[in-house]
Amino acid sequence: MQRDIFTEEHEGFRDLVARFVADEVVPHHDEWERDGLVPRELWTKAGALGLLCTDVPTEYGGGGVADFRYNVIVTEELAKVGASGVGFPLHNDVIVPYFLAHATEEQKRRWFPPMASGEVITAIAMTEPGTGSDLASMSTTAIRQDDGSYLLNGAKTFITNGIQADLVIVCAKTDPTSTHGGISLLVVERGMEGFERGRKLDKIGMHAQDTAELFFTDVRVPADNLLGQEGHGFVYLMQALPQERLGIGIAAIAGAKAAFDATLAYCKEREAFGRPIGSFQHSRFTLAELHTKITIGQQFADRCTMLHNEGQLSVEDAAMAKWWLTDLLGEVVDAGVQLHGGYGYMREYPIARAYVDARVQRIYGGTNEIMKEIIGRTLGV
Ligand SMILES: Cc1cc2nc3c(=O)[nH]c(=O)nc-3n(C[C@H](O)[C@H](O)[C@H](O)COP(=O)(O)OP(=O)(O)OC[C@H]3O[C@@H](n4cnc5c(N)ncnc54)[C@H](O)[C@@H]3O)c2cc1C
Repeated sequence: MQRDIFTEEHEGFRDLVARFVADEVVPHHDEWERDGLVPRELWTKAGALGLLCTDVPTEYGGGGVADFRYNVIVTEELAKVGASGVGFPLHNDVIVPYFLAHATEEQKRRWFPPMASGEVITAIAMTEPGTGSDLASMSTTAIRQDDGSYLLNGAKTFITNGIQADLVIVCAKTDPTSTHGGISLLVVERGMEGFERGRKLDKIGMHAQDTAELFFTDVRVPADNLLGQEGHGFVYLMQALPQERLGIGIAAIAGAKAAFDATLAYCKEREAFGRPIGSFQHSRFTLAELHTKITIGQQFADRCTMLHNEGQLSVEDAAMAKWWLTDLLGEVVDAGVQLHGGYGYMREYPIARAYVDARVQRIYGGTNEIMKEIIGRTLGV
């Protein structure tokens, strides 16, 4: 089924991104998986081409086009080739919206230009060793001092772009006596005294993605680095999470399509009992079912993208996209490994990597169980 949400301009941008990914990402991704990091130069090359911060106004160095379809294209082109280590979607889809919505004029002038050029890499730190789903229970504190600055103490874990990040939005309690109302967002910068990074975490997949623990010990964060209003952090998170979740759903459906295409090609070429394995009825039915679900999922993802562009994407729509599309990805990669037989278990085959890289998508950005809680609540049950 044809997709109909992109114009010629989008397709031109897609060609640019696809060429960048083919030239600058694909030949090196294996090496980055061994290193556990993507080099910073990739970020500045992407920035120079205009692949970062497409929706940031041009006066701050961005692309100046508030159209989520450009974010979708970057995410899709990376997901298509399994470039799970490249943290642009987090930077573009997750971090930028906080700055667009809540940064002061001075903060925008200070931070957007290097974010758009790729000189500054960003991260967001919500999760703590003791709490992830239940964000309101976080224990990191940022206590206001007499001079207006904040004294930040606590630890965060599983932070994407954690080792390389130059700016980290840290969620902390400015009023530890309150739950939701006590959370604020503080921008912590590389080099601030007391800000330490822990080990690069040893994940089962997404080996090129830099995921780290962060520690804050008496870090003095100037009042100028408060993002938005004190105590409004929880509301800001709830406002921004639907875009993050839609982005995860979009990466999932693009990854599912790529895994399906690789599996289909394999099923046509591999023979058993004198015939292509795809011609066995079980394989054909499996492929037919996955193809149908991917087609339906893509239409839903595209509709969500357009609703989001119109400011109409509801919290439950985004939750549906996140859980259903990441679950579908899990189903596709699992069937893909099975249809590849023993080769599906070998890392040299893209389906094997897709299998391990996919697993976390049902966990981060809010687990799929939490997504169902959100949807269930809207049903009045
Ligand atoms: C690779 C990776 C990258 C990540 N990147 C980031 C990042 O950049 N920034 C960041 O802040 N975090 C990040 N995370 C953290 C991620 O968002 C959390 O791991 C996730 O939200 C789950 O939190 P948790 O691990 O504490 O699990 P828990 O909250 O302890 O959940 C454990 C289990 O209990 C279930 N559960 C919990 N509460 C409920 C409930 N009310 N109803 C039903 N079931 C429930 C969960 O669904 C899950 O199955 C990342 C994680 C990984 C693995």
